[in-house]
Amino acid sequence: MPTQFIKQFTDAALDLVYPPSCGLCHCSLEQQAPQHRLLCDDCFQKLDLTEDRGCPSCGAKLGPFAPLTPKCVHCRNDRFAFREVVSLGNYQGELKAVCLQCKEVHGHHLVQQFCDLFFDRHQDLLENWDIDCLACVPQHWRKRFRGAYNTSAELAERMSRRLQKPFLRQLLVKKQHTSDQAGLLPSHRRKNVKNAFGITSDRLIQGRRILLIDDVLTTGSTADACSRVLKKAGADEIFVAVLARGLG
Ligand SMILES: [Zn+2]
Ligand SMILES: [Zn+2]
Repeated sequence: MPTQFIKQFTDAALDLVYPPSCGLCHCSLEQQAPQHRLLCDDCFQKLDLTEDRGCPSCGAKLGPFAPLTPKCVHCRNDRFAFREVVSLGNYQGELKAVCLQCKEVHGHHLVQQFCDLFFDRHQDLLENWDIDCLACVPQHWRKRFRGAYNTSAELAERMSRRLQKPFLRQLLVKKQHTSDQAGLLPSHRRKNVKNAFGITSDRLIQGRRILLIDDVLTTGSTADACSRVLKKAGADEIFVAVLARGLG
C-alpha cells in the first residue's frame, strides 16, 4: 500500500478523533488550506517569513534597505568558526512562539512542518553549500535523562532526509552540563560553552563540509563552540541552519 495513502488515511482518522486546531492560537483548522495544516492562515501570515537571505555571517534578517556587507551590525565584532548561517527569520513574535512550541514533546509535528518549510525556502542555498553530512547541537545526558526533547536532533533528522545526506546523530557530545545560555550575558555565554563539547569520532569528518543544526542562534557561542571542535578534528567547513536568529 503506498505510504502516501496510509498517511492520508491516518491523518483523516486522527482528524475524526482530534479535530485539527492551530498550534499557536488553538482555533479550528477544519476550513484552512492543507499546506498550513498545523497553523491557521492568520498565525501563518503573522510569521512574516521573507525570502530574504539575511546576513550570511549570522542569519539575521535585516530588511530590504540594509547594506549588502559580509557582516551585519549584529555580528560585525564576532569571529565565528562557522562559515555561514541561514535562518527562517528573527526570533520574535509568532516565530518565537513556534520555536517554543517545538521544544515541547507534542511539538514533533511542528518541527517536521517547519523543517519542510525551511527546506523549501532555502533549498538552493543548502544545495550550493554542497555539504557532506549533518550534525546537531547535542544535549547533555542529564538533560536527556530528564526526558527533555532535543529539537535540534529532530530538525537534523528531517533535514537529512530532505537533503539526502547522512545525519551523524552521535558525532557531537556535550561533555559538561552547562547553565542555561538564555539567562547569561554574551561574554558569559562564550565562557559557559567554551569546553562543553566534544566529538566521538574524527574519522567521519576529515575534510568534510558539515551542516550544523540548532533551533535558535543568539550570540552564536554554542554553534561556534561546536564548530571549533569539528574543525579542530579536521572538518573542512561548517555551515549552520537554525529556525530563528535571536537578536540582542
Ligand atoms: Zn492560529
Ligand atoms: Zn550578521
